[in-house]
Amino acid sequence: MENRQLVIIGAGPAGLTAAIYARRAGVDVLLLEYGLSGGQINSTSEIENYPGFKRASGLSLGQAFREHAESFGAEFRDCSVNSAIFDVSSHGDKIIRTNQGDISADALIIASGSTFSRVGCKGEQEFKGRGVSYCAVCDGVFYEGAPVAVIGGGNSAVEEADYLTRFASKVYIIHRREEFRAERILIERVLSNPKIEPVLGYVVDEIAGENMAERVVARNLKSGDVRTIPVEGIFVFVGIKPNVDFLKDDKNIRRAGPGWIVTDEKMETSVEGVFAAGDVRDKFLRQVVTAAGDGAVAAMAAYEYLSNQYYLKDTLFTPKRAYAFFMSSINPAHLALASELEAWQKTANISIVVVDVHRNLRIKDKLGINELPVMVEMASGEKHRECIVSSIGDIRDFITIKSC
Ligand SMILES: Cc1cc2nc3c(=O)[nH]c(=O)nc-3n(C[C@H](O)[C@H](O)[C@H](O)COP(=O)(O)OP(=O)(O)OC[C@H]3O[C@@H](n4cnc5c(N)ncnc54)[C@H](O)[C@@H]3O)c2cc1C
Repeated sequence: MENRQLVIIGAGPAGLTAAIYARRAGVDVLLLEYGLSGGQINSTSEIENYPGFKRASGLSLGQAFREHAESFGAEFRDCSVNSAIFDVSSHGDKIIRTNQGDISADALIIASGSTFSRVGCKGEQEFKGRGVSYCAVCDGVFYEGAPVAVIGGGNSAVEEADYLTRFASKVYIIHRREEFRAERILIERVLSNPKIEPVLGYVVDEIAGENMAERVVARNLKSGDVRTIPVEGIFVFVGIKPNVDFLKDDKNIRRAGPGWIVTDEKMETSVEGVFAAGDVRDKFLRQVVTAAGDGAVAAMAAYEYLSNQYYLKDTLFTPKRAYAFFMSSINPAHLALASELEAWQKTANISIVVVDVHRNLRIKDKLGINELPVMVEMASGEKHRECIVSSIGDIRDFITIKSC
């Protein structure tokens, strides 16, 4: 099977930034993408909030990201990821199954983004980017002094409607139920805002206009009454979900809500060596700049992870016999013993691998180590014996007279 150092699923802003950072660090990178590289920004005509670009088309920004990643030698493959399988035992294999064959990755970054749910009404697709938007932070500013409609009734719809009142002359919130589903405090805030008019119990049948969207046609579900509301912008907030169908059989990666991937601050998931970046993560703000930031962090964390793994493989898991001293660099006593050990190693002409579990927490669990500092003897990749130590004498006895 093809084996790669770092595989990245998704060539949107998160995946492409991760590729740039990882390649610059000298890591072998394979990007898997089933659509157009650039991701979601390809579907927007104008971006005004990516630093350094006062105004850019989504397509040109996406293309610039790709060219940048290519210039550092990232490899791209047009393919669809169907599933990902993680072995969480000591081997830690990561297998990615695609429509063009299986790949084994030493580290993986999931940057597969998210998808907005559609209303599914007539005109929605036709006026997407010409009045129909799925992002108030991205497009709200284009509707200064104009009437807009928000479709939806959950927290996002209500919050974004409130945000849009900064620009719009009026904001209609059209929701199919008679009550909003948002938190009480948010509902109270929007109901007290004179610019907001709730249109409850209505479904949107059509978005219409000439070149740009000009009106929304909504129907009351009980009475059948039809209202035509003149607006210049229509903001759809009827749901958003992460693109994680390929994780359907996985029980190891922690997720939240509809499947957002939960990571730590290094973008690492609950599976060692598997990172997530961008919109697919459980996070506060889904934008190009935050996706790019996540991608940079994930790439550098993956680089650190790979360097550690290769070092441990060469020194601990591959040799027939190896000795290791497990300590924590935040404990002064452990640090003192580590420097004594370093001096003794030189005189005794013996090689002992020092493993800092503060930087490499999971190896402790992997080898079933409970207390520190501890000496471990490895034989052909397996833990053969271990001994808690408190002095250089203990370490010497562990190695020379095999006592513990
Ligand atoms: C209409 C619109 C306008 C927007 N305007 C702005 C704006 O003005 N400013 C701003 O900052 N943000 C804007 N955003 C949000 C911004 O585009 C996203 O936050 C950003 O693209 C997220 O980047 P990402 O790399 O995490 O994911 P994405 O951009 O979603 O990229 C993920 C990539 O993964 C690929 N992929 C997914 N699953 C698979 C699979 N199984 N196999 C292979 N490939 C896969 C997808 O094809 C996609 O290319 C807008 C979004 C939309 C939809």
